[in-house]
Amino acid sequence: MSTANPYLSVIIPCFNEDASIPLFYEEAIKILAQINEQIEFIFIDDGSTDNTLNILRQLAAQNNNVNYISFSRNFGKEAAMLAGLQRANGQFIATMDIDLQDPPSLIPQMLEAVASGEYDCAGTRRVNRIGEPIIRSFFARRFYSFMKKFSDIEIVDGARDFRLMNRKYLEAFLALQERNRFSKGIFPWLGFKTKWFEYTNIGRTTGETKWSFGKLLLYSFDGIIAFSSKPLAIASILGILLFLASFLLIMLIVIRKIMFGDPVDGWASTICIILFCSGVQLFTTGILGQYMAKIYTETKQRPQYIVQEEKQWI
Ligand code: UDP
Ligand code: MG
Repeated sequence: MSTANPYLSVIIPCFNEDASIPLFYEEAIKILAQINEQIEFIFIDDGSTDNTLNILRQLAAQNNNVNYISFSRNFGKEAAMLAGLQRANGQFIATMDIDLQDPPSLIPQMLEAVASGEYDCAGTRRVNRIGEPIIRSFFARRFYSFMKKFSDIEIVDGARDFRLMNRKYLEAFLALQERNRFSKGIFPWLGFKTKWFEYTNIGRTTGETKWSFGKLLLYSFDGIIAFSSKPLAIASILGILLFLASFLLIMLIVIRKIMFGDPVDGWASTICIILFCSGVQLFTTGILGQYMAKIYTETKQRPQYIVQEEKQWI
């Protein structure tokens, strides 16, 4: 690579993607040739167990503009994106998936919007979820509507991690020190002007999605906890309501005792109340625990990823 900073850095996290890399690279350089500027690619091997690292080594040896980082194990897509963003030298920076679900053909338009100076970031969103399991779409929609109601930021429905930003935006993103990085929420939190591009869902070129339903569910919890303290408020409100209800119940029992003596009945209702209350208690302690766990990981100050090998930047 020459010493001049590239015009555009493209960051691509890869987890077991040996089949997708050549397809992606071929497609990307074909389209990005239109831009006629210097472009660097930063591939992040997120602890793949297939041939991904070897393919990246080869690609980097053949092409000056290809850089790669390889993690010591799988640290997750957020960590991979962060590592790439921290090393990007470009005047403009794009992040995208490798499976061609994020069409490289959108990059020239996105670049135009940001390079014009009118916008600091270009984001993309899917306008449909065709080809996705119904249950996954259902929970995804619930997640977006929950975030809309209960957090201070607005996460655009269907927003992808396919973005293009200028350096000002990147530096603001990197200035955030938190370890639980939920970038879908961090980006809107930063503010600035974002132009949205819409496209319809495209199937993966090769391989399968790396996100199981459980992994996505946990990821959505991360998002909720990172950007909303409403679950804690809900827990408190539940506590107050239960307290009021129990107060009324106590009054009722006392009055009944005074008026009708103390007949031994109400066993079933007692058990129901005990079960209900202990359920609510466990639920609310669970919410507390989730926040505590996040505080715990933040205080440990562990690095978000560990690099085992990378192509040296010149
Ligand atoms: N990915 C990653 N680490 C992971 C999971 C995924 O770097 O732990 C990468 C993956 O290689 C791909 C991108 O993140 O480039 C998106 O993954 P995928 O296509 O499986 O997600 P989906 O498009 O189904 O949301
Ligand atoms: Mg994908």
